Amino acid sequence: MNILILGSGGREHALAWAVMQNPKCDRLIVAPGNAGMAQIADCAKLDIEDGDAVVTFAQENTIDFVIVGPEAPLAKGVADRLREAGIKVFGPSAEAAKLEASKSFTKAVCDAAGAPTAAYGHFTDAEAAKAYIREQGAPIVVKADGLAAGKGVIVAMDVQTALDAIDDMFGGVFGGAGAEVVIEEFMEGEEASYFILCDGKTALPIGTAQDHKRVGDGDTGLNTGGMGAYSPAPVLTDEIAARAMREIIEPTVTEMAKRGTPYQGVLYAGFMIKDGQARLVEYNARFGDPECQVLMMRLGAQALDLMLACAEGQLDKAKVNWADDHAITVVMAAKGYPGTYQKGTVINGLDDLPEDSKNMVFHAGTTEVDGKITASGGRVLNVTARGDSLHEARDRAYAMIEKIDWPEGFNRSDIGWRAL
Ligand code: AMP
Repeated sequence: MNILILGSGGREHALAWAVMQNPKCDRLIVAPGNAGMAQIADCAKLDIEDGDAVVTFAQENTIDFVIVGPEAPLAKGVADRLREAGIKVFGPSAEAAKLEASKSFTKAVCDAAGAPTAAYGHFTDAEAAKAYIREQGAPIVVKADGLAAGKGVIVAMDVQTALDAIDDMFGGVFGGAGAEVVIEEFMEGEEASYFILCDGKTALPIGTAQDHKRVGDGDTGLNTGGMGAYSPAPVLTDEIAARAMREIIEPTVTEMAKRGTPYQGVLYAGFMIKDGQARLVEYNARFGDPECQVLMMRLGAQALDLMLACAEGQLDKAKVNWADDHAITVVMAAKGYPGTYQKGTVINGLDDLPEDSKNMVFHAGTTEVDGKITASGGRVLNVTARGDSLHEARDRAYAMIEKIDWPEGFNRSDIGWRAL
């Protein structure tokens, strides 16, 4: 098969790495890709949010299967265009991707599906939103309805912070994303992520993970896109996961099909877990980054078969071959991230690292310049390892980091602390 992966982050490098393990893959093109992906696949320049351009590119390159990495092309209907053109695609339609792109849509689906989630109000008027906040009191959570690059959620511990968030959102801080808000009950508990492939009818779980959103050790400092992750997440026990499948995931899949917008792709469910039960915090319509890196490390070559079964509506016949293993990924970011940081600094030592089924460095923001790997983004490398225990995986990942010579980079030293 000729396969095209859309995206340029650590998530897409991990997808590319897993796809390349599978003998079904004859040729892999990544658009736009990064310096790490260029070592294992062809990289192509392409506007991945332009559905017509993606279809034309796929036809010209006799692509058999397209895997869409990030959410933006999904929200813009790139998967729809590919399906209309008869090209097999892994990724939901724009209508189904509203499970990520609109918080109020997701809450309405949860209502109809009877899925346990936070109580909420949905507002298009600032004064009504403020009245609701005053009535409910704090802590309370204010969310911009639309995509806001992960920054549209304010967890307010006091009423004034929540009221200020309303002013900001209706004042246009998040552009169109804030013209509508969802205000939610604050849920206590421990967060974990569950990844489920859905082909419109069947839902097949492929793993659990936990990420680390804060920039500093001990979960301190600013929020980031994610500084590390590990899988499995012990807090999401088999029992809690099975109950979440029955109470949340399967009813969601049924409700989406009933609406005539079946969900086809990976459903990334963020849960809040307390007293043996998961409640839904949010859905995303794509793999998490960096959670994808640990999932791919554990799934390996079968990831392609599973994604194909998903795209072909054959998940009822698919099976995950589980290994009793653990994976961890530690993000190396440019100093200053998530604020301002330097670009173009040189990273040495990568060539001397082992790269095999237990050790991988997935690249995020890297570019090759004059034969050298340079940093071109905030999150730059995902140092990823697998082991029989989380301890083993962790030690292996940090041993790799020791050998990476990049004075302008930093990483958290405590990834996996909750489970360890
Ligand atoms: P979201 O983008 O909806 O996942 O929200 C981002 C983060 O805000 C979540 O990962 C949680 O840590 C927190 N959060 C969101 N909704 C709630 C809630 N209802 N109760 C407590 N924390 C929440």
